[in-house]
Amino acid sequence: MLRSLTLLALALLAALPVRAQHFPTDDPVIRQIWAEGMENSQTELLAHHLIDVIGPRLAGSPGLEQAQEWLLETYADWGIPARKEQYGTWTGWEAGALHAEMTAPRVAPLTVELMAYSPGTDGPVEGPVVMPPANLTEANAADWLATLEGAFVLLDAPEPMCRAEQELVANARPETVARLDSLRAAARGEWRQRLRAIGSLEALEAAGIAGTLNSRWSGGWGANKVFSTNNERAVALDVSCEDYGLLARLAASGNAPRIRVDAEAEMRGTVPQFNVIAEMRGTELPDEYVLLSAHLDSWHAATGATDNGTGTLVMLEAMRILKETYPNPRRTILVGHWGAEEMGLIGSGSFREDHPEVVEGLQVGFNQDNGTWRFERIEGQGFLGTAEHLPKWMAAVPTDIQAQVTIEVPGEQNNRGSDHTSFTCAEAPVLRLQSPYDEYRQYTWHTNLDTYDKIVFDDLKQNATLAAMLVYGASEDPERMSREPANLPINPRTGEPRAFGPCRAPQREPRD
Ligand SMILES: [Zn+2]
Repeated sequence: MLRSLTLLALALLAALPVRAQHFPTDDPVIRQIWAEGMENSQTELLAHHLIDVIGPRLAGSPGLEQAQEWLLETYADWGIPARKEQYGTWTGWEAGALHAEMTAPRVAPLTVELMAYSPGTDGPVEGPVVMPPANLTEANAADWLATLEGAFVLLDAPEPMCRAEQELVANARPETVARLDSLRAAARGEWRQRLRAIGSLEALEAAGIAGTLNSRWSGGWGANKVFSTNNERAVALDVSCEDYGLLARLAASGNAPRIRVDAEAEMRGTVPQFNVIAEMRGTELPDEYVLLSAHLDSWHAATGATDNGTGTLVMLEAMRILKETYPNPRRTILVGHWGAEEMGLIGSGSFREDHPEVVEGLQVGFNQDNGTWRFERIEGQGFLGTAEHLPKWMAAVPTDIQAQVTIEVPGEQNNRGSDHTSFTCAEAPVLRLQSPYDEYRQYTWHTNLDTYDKIVFDDLKQNATLAAMLVYGASEDPERMSREPANLPINPRTGEPRAFGPCRAPQREPRD
């Protein structure tokens, strides 16, 4: 009985229609886009493969190469022409297993991540954990360096507390918050002085250290941001806020902590780097383009679920929806799955240089690069024409979605942060689809916690559906959008009117 009731309940649930929508126009394509995007969404399947099966997609790693091949296969299955375009090369690197534990004064596992492009250890390595002494100066640094053979060196000031900042503010006395803030500021200042005395990573490596230990806490429970290292021989680890504090306190109190590290990592020489471009050719205006834009690469400490798996999935799913509902677009629809955004907007910048015809013929582009949650804002980036065209494209979208999205037109340019700037610098309008930022910045952006479980699929579905509707509106628009910049507000730093940032040549090869 229970079982059949449950089955009945499930059947009813499955039969429930997606919440009824009010469509402001009779446009049948908009209704089909809604049905395809909301009732036949492929986002969960696609996300599982990209984020769980393939995983992290660091520039130069096999994960990024696999993700690119998977995109090509996926587009081929859908009948959408897609290609890889090589734009340069990067440092090849592949990480394997990683184990780290404290061995003295007691045994305890450690939560660590390998910093990107770090050397491995070639088997387990055990050694003391040391911190640069407080009295270290350029004059006595050589004596200290001479004691470091086989040691792991702490390179960041430890955090006085690893609780999420907002909870501290909510629960602690104001004087406690102030005291921790000043402790943190003082410790950072003092450590900067110690690092200046050491001089360089090369000096540490020349002293024969076993490894470097950093901890770049992200301000929330269990979250660290993990970037790359320039170490050439010694393993470079990022240690959790908690474990780093433990090691630092033991070292400071003379309790002689030791750790053992076994890190597999392989340098792969220099490897070719690609963008993946998919295209639905325009039937009337093939030389005018509507661009979907999101970087495919990620940092490596987690699986790049929200930076930028979700942006990638929005654009990928939008292309699938468009192929099903609008297969013969008026203008050419392009999607750019960029390489090496995290290394400095390299894939998108190279595409701008390599495709002047797209920059020239661009009607508009839409870039996403800030995680999950539904789009709350579309930024016109200071293009006057967005004030006329964006509201027009949005006017066909179900009213429920319109009510959730603020259109900032013409808006300010945001000359930083993601691939849109590779185009706005050339005055080609690529706009940002923005989700809420604060939690993203604190917990998943470039952290060890950027994993599949953080994705909000209801929002991802709706975002892909909205992106498809915007592309449809921009493609069908009878008019080409102007690129004239708005009268932009004064930049308070310079006293000059704000301007589109200059285009910078992309770094197409690894730095030295
Ligand atoms: Zn990103």
